[in-house]
Amino acid sequence: MPSPFVIAIDGPAGTGKSSATKRLAERLGFVHVDTGALYRAIAYLLLKEKDLLETGFDSFTAEQIPGVEKRACEIAATTKLRFERKPKLNPSNRIFANEVDITSHIRTPEISMGASRVSAIPEVRKALVSLQRTMGESGRSILEGRDIGTVIFPDANVKFFLTASISERAKRRLAELEASGADAPSYEEIKRQIAARDQGDMTRAVAPLRRADDAIELDTTNYTLDEVVDWMETQVRAKLKL
Ligand code: C5P
Repeated sequence: MPSPFVIAIDGPAGTGKSSATKRLAERLGFVHVDTGALYRAIAYLLLKEKDLLETGFDSFTAEQIPGVEKRACEIAATTKLRFERKPKLNPSNRIFANEVDITSHIRTPEISMGASRVSAIPEVRKALVSLQRTMGESGRSILEGRDIGTVIFPDANVKFFLTASISERAKRRLAELEASGADAPSYEEIKRQIAARDQGDMTRAVAPLRRADDAIELDTTNYTLDEVVDWMETQVRAKLKL
């Protein structure tokens, strides 16, 4: 096995992180770990159990929240989460929760907001730390998320921090939702949801979204996906001396 080499890619929603990471991983032959999918899985299992997949976390009353948060911690601590790559079926990673493939359920706007809510709960984050480290340490890997370069792999070999303007991010997210055939909210609503997630992710007490001091930052607003991936590949190959 080649010596471990970890690439950390962080940044807010809609900056092209996931698509860029997927392509970069393919080009370099690295394992791709989408850590946001883990938080999405917890949110999905919680909302499903409460029969609130259609309406989301905001349907809970303030009194219910402590009980709901406790349940989120229990789910995070007891659910076996794993990724599987099935290139013939679908080039993307599939995510399994207790051996059930939940991949097609975790990309709705309700789950996005729900993931942001559960990810602010310290015990939920704690439950997912060692899993992410194990996934990343298994060889050459790229992990994408919010706290990879700051908390999960502070010693990552290369760190990127992607940004983009909020209007561009909302535009990309709308196109993604429309392409998936889902009922997409309006552009303005998506923009509102992204801003709310940014706010939650950047201001939470534990592992808030921020650029690691040694991360290389790129504003992707005016670049195509290929341009972003080319740029990242050049940086990584220089470090890897490939
Ligand atoms: O990356 P994605 O949009 O799928 O992530 C969903 C949510 O999960 C984010 O808004 C964030 O709140 C949370 N998350 C996190 N830490 C990570 C990855 C995702 O808090 N490493």
